Amino acid sequence: MADGLVLPGKAPLIDRYGRQVTYLRLSVTDRCDLRCTYCMSEIMKFLPKAELLSLDELDRVATAFVERGVRKIRLTGGEPLVRKDVGYLIDRLGRLKGQGLDELTLTTNATLLADHADGLMRAGVRRVNVSLDSLDPANFAEITRRGDLSKVLNGIDAALEAGLKIKINTVALKHQNVSEIPDMVEWAHARGMDMTLIEVMPLGDTGEDRIDQYIPLPMLRDVLETRWTLTEETSRDPIAGPSRYVRVKETGGRLGFITPLTNNFCAGCNRVRVTCTGRIYMCLGQDDHVDLRSALREAADPSVALDAALDKALFAKPEKHDFEIKRRGSAPALPRHMSTTGG
Ligand code: SAM
Ligand code: SF4
Repeated sequence: MADGLVLPGKAPLIDRYGRQVTYLRLSVTDRCDLRCTYCMSEIMKFLPKAELLSLDELDRVATAFVERGVRKIRLTGGEPLVRKDVGYLIDRLGRLKGQGLDELTLTTNATLLADHADGLMRAGVRRVNVSLDSLDPANFAEITRRGDLSKVLNGIDAALEAGLKIKINTVALKHQNVSEIPDMVEWAHARGMDMTLIEVMPLGDTGEDRIDQYIPLPMLRDVLETRWTLTEETSRDPIAGPSRYVRVKETGGRLGFITPLTNNFCAGCNRVRVTCTGRIYMCLGQDDHVDLRSALREAADPSVALDAALDKALFAKPEKHDFEIKRRGSAPALPRHMSTTGG
């Protein structure tokens, strides 16, 4: 039985392994105002704006997914809030809520969140993921190669004040932030925010050696367990991501672990990613993709062509990714940056 509200006459998005896609991550730009050391290189060449899908095209793509049973859309990038007039798209997508779409959300670095918090709430967004890797202004500036921590903290305050729920995402970096993580967990939980730790993934050349950044999360969890009591939680959210949650007895908050390297999470994968140029990537860890932009721009009947492209993509969704942190100095597992695919 298919999950989600599928428009009559349309088929749910079920792949060859029986997994139904109910979750779309939609990248609205490859640009960003930061240059996090694990995500981008210092000097980035961004796509010419003409190659990007327009906001109306992004809306059409998202609608095509919702018509086929997608219940959750996450806007991402690059930094979604740097896309000009992104509020227009968010308003449009907000209209899909209640018509198949259960949740509209975004992942942001929060530098511009203060300006958008009320608008997001009005459009029907209720939860936002904020990526934050340090609470120390100098360390934050170093990890992001340019960021101003106070803007992010203002963004978080504004969002909480507007009534948005926030989850903090932190990439664990062996030499750059691991010692700060316990304090960050306490800080997040004291503000009623869940927190998720992420293993650094070998995506795109950043000019840094990933082996120097990578710390396996089970190792970090062992350290946290010397300080706190962690109790396994089962997810309450049927379209939740791959993170495993624990409850921290002493803080009362939830802590998630995303472990693509130490613990492959592909068996329950319910998502696909669409880039800002209209490519569907069926798996973050593989390079196969299907082009939606030509379906939108060149087909006699774009709606039929979009559906055919979605079928083709689903058929090609691989069983699992094959990430591996390779030897020191070797090329990344995939040349594509996370900011290109949409994290
Ligand atoms: N700019 C937004 C942000 O930072 O939240 C959205 C896009 S960013 C690519 C989405 C998420 O991907 C962030 O939480 C970021 O920390 C994570 N990320 C980027 N590169 C990564 C990598 N190589 N390994 C693990 N996580 C990564
Ligand atoms: Fe920008 Fe997000 Fe990548 Fe950092 S992780 S460089 S904020 S896209």
